[in-house]
Amino acid sequence: MDELTLDIRTLNFTVIIFSFIYSVGLFLYQTKQKELEGLKTLAIGVFLIGLGPALLGFRGKAPDWLTIVIANSLIMLGFLYLLYGIGYVRDYSSRLLHLLALALVGCCVLLYYFTYLEPSINARVIVLSAFISATSLTSAWALIKGKRDDAQFPLLLMAIPFVVYGLFMLVRAIVGLSEPRITDYMHAGFIHALTYLFSLILLITLSLSMLWLNNARLLRSIHQLSLKDPLTGLYNRRVLDSVIPDLVLKASAQTKPVSLIMTDIDNFKQINDELGHIIGDETIERVAQVLINTLPQSDNVFLVRFGGDEFMILLFDSDADRAYLEAEVLRSSVAENFSDYRCTMSFGIAELINGNLDDALTHADAALYQAKHRGRNQVVIA
Ligand code: GH3
Ligand code: MG
Repeated sequence: MDELTLDIRTLNFTVIIFSFIYSVGLFLYQTKQKELEGLKTLAIGVFLIGLGPALLGFRGKAPDWLTIVIANSLIMLGFLYLLYGIGYVRDYSSRLLHLLALALVGCCVLLYYFTYLEPSINARVIVLSAFISATSLTSAWALIKGKRDDAQFPLLLMAIPFVVYGLFMLVRAIVGLSEPRITDYMHAGFIHALTYLFSLILLITLSLSMLWLNNARLLRSIHQLSLKDPLTGLYNRRVLDSVIPDLVLKASAQTKPVSLIMTDIDNFKQINDELGHIIGDETIERVAQVLINTLPQSDNVFLVRFGGDEFMILLFDSDADRAYLEAEVLRSSVAENFSDYRCTMSFGIAELINGNLDDALTHADAALYQAKHRGRNQVVIA
């Protein structure tokens, strides 16, 4: 097999083409998907990471301030933009980001110094590599430490290449300290050619994992939406299949009592018939609001619009007697909140036995039926 040769010129060209395509793609993506913050900043970063090497390609044909000082500064600025973009995407902010922005100014001055006052390609490579190493490692840190609740796998897929890249750049900077003097950068040696290869890997994995991350966010929000009732904003009965069984299981494992309250608006058909469906809808919304405001704000309370004018309340760490007291408070709250027209609710309560939700539902329903039968606006324990 022929010896592997990495040609810096060709690699440079590949990085330029890829970053331009990727940055335009990111930019267009953000214009259509406005809710995904930070992609424009990332797009600028990726664009600059391509623009820098493009200017480097004019070495000898254009002045040094453009092909060396500006070109390398733009590459560093590109990595800084990537870092800030990641900060937006992951909701991560730290003084470290601003410190790096300040460090960039210092690095630009050093580039100028090592171009005009004490020309040295080695020194410029060290400055560039050290700065990119610091921003890449900080990017990985921001990805992991960001406050947004994101899918773990795409996050790792994004963070690992930044760590590898950051460490590689650190090695490159250290090697640069003892390396012989570089006279022609385009033939500077294997480690410098590798830089382009690593840049490509970083950009490609970033593009894939960013797409994956956003996709995971959209899927999650669709899933959340499917669990919500559009009229009241409460959970709907789909949680009976996905969320509630896990909560019940957890409570049973801790041998904590769980109680179920089924409640239904009294003579709601009459409200619909006499006052109209719009007032009917408003009544459901108002009732939901009273239930939300009256129930304790706690993770132990789970309120669901079960369907129509019926609501379900799960009380964790609460036996049937405590649930009865809670339901009494709710019953009088609802009645008191409707002074413009009469609206009351009936309640049926059952305590879960051995974590059996289905049985409790049947018993609470039967108790609710009894409450209706006994004249409505009352609470009955199964
Ligand atoms: P009861 O006291 O026995 O509960 O009598 P009711 O008239 O309230 O009877 P029921 O609970 O069976 O009636 C529920 C009605 O609620 C039937 C349906 O037309 C109406 N309904 C269901 N969903 C909605 C909704 O989203 N908006 C409106 N306006 N009405 C709804
Ligand atoms: Mg009803």
